[in-house]
Amino acid sequence: MSNSMPALTLLGPGEVALTDKPVPTPGPGEVLLAVEATTICGTDLRIISGQKTSGVRPGVTLGHEVAGRIEAVGEGVTGLAPGCQATVSIVLSCGVCRACLAGREHLCESMELIGYGIDGGLAPYLLVPARAVSRGNVIVSPRELPANRLALSEPLSCVLNGHTRHGGVNPGETVVVIGGGAIGLLHTQLALACGARQVILCEKHADRRERATALGALTASPDSLVATVAEVTGGWGADVVVVAIGRNEIADQSLDLAAPGGRVSWFAGFPKGSSATVQPNTVHYNELTVSGGSNARRADVHRAVDMLAAGTIDEKPIVTHTFGLSQWREAIDAVTGHAGIKIAIDPRR
Ligand SMILES: [Zn+2]
Ligand SMILES: [Zn+2]
Repeated sequence: MSNSMPALTLLGPGEVALTDKPVPTPGPGEVLLAVEATTICGTDLRIISGQKTSGVRPGVTLGHEVAGRIEAVGEGVTGLAPGCQATVSIVLSCGVCRACLAGREHLCESMELIGYGIDGGLAPYLLVPARAVSRGNVIVSPRELPANRLALSEPLSCVLNGHTRHGGVNPGETVVVIGGGAIGLLHTQLALACGARQVILCEKHADRRERATALGALTASPDSLVATVAEVTGGWGADVVVVAIGRNEIADQSLDLAAPGGRVSWFAGFPKGSSATVQPNTVHYNELTVSGGSNARRADVHRAVDMLAAGTIDEKPIVTHTFGLSQWREAIDAVTGHAGIKIAIDPRR
């Protein structure tokens, strides 16, 4: 192991470069992961472009959707052995604040996130801090998986948390997913695995609709969505509506698509500080439940890893491209240019 490594580093708002950093040596309680894949998400783009600055430390190595292998463990680490394939739950929570005690560690008042405030996975090695290791944030895969599949454990864990918040999908229900990116396709696979009678995925890009069709969803363009939902449900509406694209005008539309008694998940993040106009009577008269979902707990990451290991969720329609770390600009361009769905970086390339 040479003692320095390239790392995709946030220099300041909107400023990113590949810099040389020392390869970390795990101290007491720490774990060193050799990174095998890190997938890029919309939040990374917002950090790289300077739109997102809160909770992000200049100098940090980016990347929070990480699949790796335990390279070395520090003194006192038990139950984690070099060679094991593993991912990391990126939320470092305090365990004692009201949010943590209420079972919402992912909303911890003093949380820190790997890939935001703590060095992440867009580098050959990632050092997991002792306070994360001792709380079980390093999660070993029960069997060998393609690295690009294991990397989806982070976005899938967030989807599972959102799913829990909206009450889940019951067999025979009709589900609308608005937005056909990686998150929308994960919600689609999850709803079908839960026994949804029909998932209707709304997406304006035809190539993304094709991917959803291949997964077993019925697709609609934004123009045809209302008519499609009416047709499939006999005018009743969808049992569950998941908003997987953060556009304010969709907030009101999502309420209209739900059946009486339906659940609506505003899963996507909306533009910071923005407002939306909704008709509150749609919630009142139709007795809708509206929920959110942000981030995930360690338990959700465990569940995500198990589902990926079982093959319940397939990464192949989602992770469309893999680049080396030196090709990071191409990788970012592929994300912003919608060249694929999700882009992975393999720092071993
Ligand atoms: Zn992400
Ligand atoms: Zn806390």
